[in-house]
Amino acid sequence: MRWAGTRILTPEGLTPGSVLVGPEGRVHRVREGQPEEDPDLPGVVAPAPTNAHTHLADRRAREKIDAEGLSVEEAVAPPDGLKHRLLRSTPTRQLVEGMREALEEAHRAGVRRVLDFREGGPRGARALREAAEPLPVEVTVLGRPSRAEVWDEEKDLLVDLVDGIGVSGLEDQPLELSRAQARWADDHGKRLALHLSEARQEDVDAALSLDPDLIVHATECTEDELARIADAGVPVAACPRCNALFDRRPPLTAMVEAGIDVGLGSDNAMFHEPDPFDEAAFVAREWPEIDAEEILAMACSFALEADPSPTVEEGGEIVVVDDRNGLREGIEDRRIQAREDRR
Ligand SMILES: [Zn+2]
Repeated sequence: MRWAGTRILTPEGLTPGSVLVGPEGRVHRVREGQPEEDPDLPGVVAPAPTNAHTHLADRRAREKIDAEGLSVEEAVAPPDGLKHRLLRSTPTRQLVEGMREALEEAHRAGVRRVLDFREGGPRGARALREAAEPLPVEVTVLGRPSRAEVWDEEKDLLVDLVDGIGVSGLEDQPLELSRAQARWADDHGKRLALHLSEARQEDVDAALSLDPDLIVHATECTEDELARIADAGVPVAACPRCNALFDRRPPLTAMVEAGIDVGLGSDNAMFHEPDPFDEAAFVAREWPEIDAEEILAMACSFALEADPSPTVEEGGEIVVVDDRNGLREGIEDRRIQAREDRR
């Protein structure tokens, strides 16, 4: 066991402290205050990160797809974007294996929780449960019906398989269906998440009227719209590297200034490994005006609305970011350690 850290990320910010961490990356003891001796692992201790938005099932397409020159719609929009055609033609067994590979990547990256949008109705949700079963990563399954028209038939099957609904987009289905899904989620203690304004401005007020637990992207939102999202207390999962593939840039600075709780998602697993610290490193480089502490909180403190923020506590998994050259540089270099088997 090793002592790690001189500062701990808490919901109130960075405070002096250190933890005793086992080889599996779990905390055995938390000690407050400035440590008297230099720790074995110097740096900032933070809760193990949450990947705020993934599509793990796309993993198998990583070697097969070249998104160069494609628009967002051509690459990933349902029902006939390139990834959906690939998903439909992939046998369930291969989908499960692909999702498990993606989750293994997430685990190696030290991720504790993944919020996944799972296409493919009950069959797709069941496949993700099967993929996740042997791995210690917590997977929040945000499913959907296989097609909008079969919602009424599939919702009773979905109830035992999903943690919530992941709406692909307000304009991908009738608003009435989104409303029915929001009511269903409410009635069954499930979550509602939706993609919003990824490639063009969409109706923020219609989205907020669904009382979602999570908005994904908000890339094309105006400052005014971000203020309304902040007022509603809805957290946003930003996917900066995926947006950059399509020459877009999420308004992260405005989101932070508006007071939105921002998380980082790696989005489609065909483009990137599901490692939120790759996103954090990208933000640290590309958004120099955002505080490094804020960026660390995006990766490590994010939670769905109504869930408590992860904290550094006994039994919990952590990461340690080397801050000897400054916290920002530690994040940029991805110098992160805690579990001894980590890459
Ligand atoms: Zn997405």
